Amino acid sequence: MSSRMRITSGKTRSRRSHHGIKAPRLSTCAKCGSVHLRHRMCETCGNYKDKEIIDINAKIAKKNERQVAKMKSLGIDPNAKNTNEDEKEPKLDLKKLSKKKTK
Ligand SMILES: [Zn+2]
Repeated sequence: MSSRMRITSGKTRSRRSHHGIKAPRLSTCAKCGSVHLRHRMCETCGNYKDKEIIDINAKIAKKNERQVAKMKSLGIDPNAKNTNEDEKEPKLDLKKLSKKKTK
C-alpha cells in the first residue's frame, strides 16, 4: 500500500460520525393513542391509517385457545394455570381495548 492510500484516523472518525444509533421515529395511533413505528401498523389495536389490518382480539383469543389445547395435550388443567403471569397480559390488553372503543 502506497502512502497515498493511507486513511487517516480523522477521515475514519468523520465517516463513522454518521454510524451512531438514533432513537426510532414514533407516532401515536389515531384510534387507541398508543405509540407505534411510523408507516407500520399499530401493534396494540391492529390498525393502520384508520383501517383494521389485523383483528387483535381474535388473534389473542386464538393464542389462548392454542395454549389451552397444548396444556390439555400435556395433561395440565388449563383453568388451574390461568392465574399465571403469561396469561394476565393479553387479558389486560382486551380490557384496555374495550374501554377505548366505547369512547
Ligand atoms: Zn392503535
